[in-house]
Amino acid sequence: MGLQGITDSGTIIYKGKSSYEVVQKILDNIDSGIVVCATDSGEVLFENRIAARVPEIHRTIMDCIHNALESGDVQGRIGTPMERYNTESGLWFEVKFTQLVWISGINAIAASAADITQKKKNQQKIEYQAHNDFLTGLYNRMKCEVDLRKAIKDSVQNGNKGAVLFIDLDDFKHINDGLGHQYGDILLQQIAAGIAGIPGLRGHCYRMGGDEFVIIVEPELFGDLDKVINNITLLFNKQWYLMETEYFCTMSMGIAFFPDNSVDVHEITRMADVAMYAAKRSGKNRYVYYSSEVESATAQRLDIENSMRQAVSTGIDEFVVFYQPVVNADTQQCTSCEALVRWDSKALGFMGPGEFIPLAEYLGLITSIGDYVLEEACRRCKLWNDNGHPDFYVNVNLSVVQLLQKDVVENIKKILEKTGVNPKNVVLEITESFAINDMHRVMEIITGLKKLGPRIALDDFGTGYSSLNYIKQLPLDIIKVDKTFIDDIVEDDYAQAFVKLIVDLSKTIGTKIVVEGVEHKEQYDLLKRLGVDYIQGYYFGKPVPAKVFEENNLEGRLGE
Ligand code: C2E
Ligand code: CA
Ligand code: CA
Repeated sequence: MGLQGITDSGTIIYKGKSSYEVVQKILDNIDSGIVVCATDSGEVLFENRIAARVPEIHRTIMDCIHNALESGDVQGRIGTPMERYNTESGLWFEVKFTQLVWISGINAIAASAADITQKKKNQQKIEYQAHNDFLTGLYNRMKCEVDLRKAIKDSVQNGNKGAVLFIDLDDFKHINDGLGHQYGDILLQQIAAGIAGIPGLRGHCYRMGGDEFVIIVEPELFGDLDKVINNITLLFNKQWYLMETEYFCTMSMGIAFFPDNSVDVHEITRMADVAMYAAKRSGKNRYVYYSSEVESATAQRLDIENSMRQAVSTGIDEFVVFYQPVVNADTQQCTSCEALVRWDSKALGFMGPGEFIPLAEYLGLITSIGDYVLEEACRRCKLWNDNGHPDFYVNVNLSVVQLLQKDVVENIKKILEKTGVNPKNVVLEITESFAINDMHRVMEIITGLKKLGPRIALDDFGTGYSSLNYIKQLPLDIIKVDKTFIDDIVEDDYAQAFVKLIVDLSKTIGTKIVVEGVEHKEQYDLLKRLGVDYIQGYYFGKPVPAKVFEENNLEGRLGE
């Protein structure tokens, strides 16, 4: 006779001794240990061979059975596998319970234990890979979430505080692009090791991706937060060695507190990130604590960002070009103008370029805006040229970001052709910050642009770092002296000497000098005496819409 059957509740009922022997044989030959115990007394009624011979299996099963019997909740553990680790052997077992009526008719528990060590190891490996950053060996974003959730929960329960520090390296892209990715990777590894080596931080540092790191300052370390911040600052004040050369790589850091700022993992991380961006915006290489002011400044920026993307994608017509007169210093005649963009945003109101050009450059939208300004200005100039002012010319600003586009020369050529303007009547203004890029490239671009016909002006001269020797090498037509030299020129001998020097230099290298920001008659008189060629400033006119510009400066001379 064999097994009689298994009842609906999963209880196995045996009938007769011969079946016991058969079952024993079968059970002795399987890999798992099996023990049957009486439910009342805990007496061992049966053990298969592996359970009897392998002490750790025996002990693991017996511990589980005794625990269950003591707790009085055997029923609750039926059908729920339990994972148990045996410290002496280093093995993992999965223990399962079944209830049955033993041969003698008494109620019993049958417990089996299978070795799942290999499965566990595989799991741990997967978990390690899932929780660690392969490049730096730090934990990753996923683990950060898990740990932060726990840290916040603990802090709420115990009434203490912790902090999230969000670090982003400054200008890491330059190192990556300049030296190559493999050196960028080495730098990330060095930085990761440096952060993890700060007292108290090992095991609490995470690489979130790219050049972003997060540190969780757990409540136990929170009292030392200032020390931790100081140590991080010191770490980034020293140089790193790459290709046997010293490199500085600074960072911007945002700090948010839990539970004070938020008890939500994503929210608190976002807040630290927002504070980090505020640190970047205010000049990098610093840290900023999260606050509601930081939040609203960011929200405003996001507003501008979204509106700008929209304005650019829906035809750019929110951007308007104003024109400011540039006059001949001797005759006071308006011979040209500078095209200056404004943004008349439906959502945010009227904005000057200072408020949105840097962001447009950052977002890569400046090329679209700049192309639009150039096209508008060229059209307008052609109109004026065709209507009685054949020599009138227009000055248009080009951003560094625009100039560094691969196809900048080709692109500008297209715009000039499309508008039909005489290229001789266009001046392209480049800034000193572009001119101090790689000389070879700068030369190539300037030469390419000049071949199309326009003249080139160096804008904001005197605010950057370029030496006069450097300027001499560039094929410039015009130098525009920055307003900062003009503000106090009447009283400031140095400013006067500077302008005089530039005037003399321009004569020897054949460029014209424009002075910007002239607001008073005294300034004008002085500059005229110094031999400046052209003047631009509120004294002769502010930037105004095209129609107003015509009325003020070309009135009666326009053939309309
Ligand atoms: P910028 O090229 O140096 O332009 C001259 C700026 O000085 C203009 O400011 C002009 O309004 C201002 N200005 C001229 N004369 C006076 C004066 O007598 N007193 C005072 N207080 N200011 C004077 P705006 O229009 O605000 O433009 C600021 C900057 O924005 C420009 O400086 C230029 O760098 C940038 N920008 C303007 N339009 C464009 C554009 O279409 N493309 C690019 N890339 N940048 C532009
Ligand atoms: Ca300019
Ligand atoms: Ca300027």
